[in-house]
Amino acid sequence: MAHLSWRAHADRIADGAVVLLPVGALEQHGRHLPLGVDYMLAEAVALATAEHIDAVVAPPFVYGYKSQLRTGGGPQFPGTVGLDGHSLSSAIVDVLRGLARGGANKLAIIDGHYENQMFLTEACDLAIREFRQSGREGVKIVQARYFEQFDEAILERHVGGPPLDLAYEHAGVFETSLCLHLFGDLVDMDAAPEQAFKEFPSYDCHPPHDDWVPATGALSNPHRATAALGREIFDACVQGMVRILEAEFRPEGDGSN
Ligand SMILES: [Zn+2]
Repeated sequence: MAHLSWRAHADRIADGAVVLLPVGALEQHGRHLPLGVDYMLAEAVALATAEHIDAVVAPPFVYGYKSQLRTGGGPQFPGTVGLDGHSLSSAIVDVLRGLARGGANKLAIIDGHYENQMFLTEACDLAIREFRQSGREGVKIVQARYFEQFDEAILERHVGGPPLDLAYEHAGVFETSLCLHLFGDLVDMDAAPEQAFKEFPSYDCHPPHDDWVPATGALSNPHRATAALGREIFDACVQGMVRILEAEFRPEGDGSN
């Protein structure tokens, strides 16, 4: 979208293109991965998805909800920058409103940051309510987390051992494999920690106990990550997104929906 003129964008929308909005975060990902992982992966999935369906990819929304200890290591790491929940919801409503005002009525948020989910839900809910009140009944927003669109058996097949929990996969095998596949020159496996699977208490405390989090910033061991696994996960996530968008934005008169 950023590379299109407004006329070219308007033509794509008029022809029925879906607008994909990747949303991520700027958040530490251990010593071996870049700060931008969450929005970079969401954007990569969006761009690859747009090769299979008629879609325009909006520039990614790079800031997300605040990193939490048990899913992202927390805000105490330099370079981790989070938004208050209402700021994220409110900014996403502004973006959705602007896209819809420009004629887009097929919208999809592709989320790459664990902590964003309910604030994106809030944004979609407020936006749909506003569109209805202003007579724009035709706008539909799909909201999906790219990292839930694949069969976790892929991980177990490649990695073996105990099943991996995606909540703990922050900077672990999952994200490291994807980064090795997509942005290998930004990954420093020599700096990757030998991090034992981090067991957290079953509750949160405010202010948080920063010392619950390993100093490395990783919550599990990324050393079993490979580019081949990353490619398989990535392709599966893209196929998953394509299936969702094809089902939800089927042309009218095509049966379901
Ligand atoms: Zn991440």
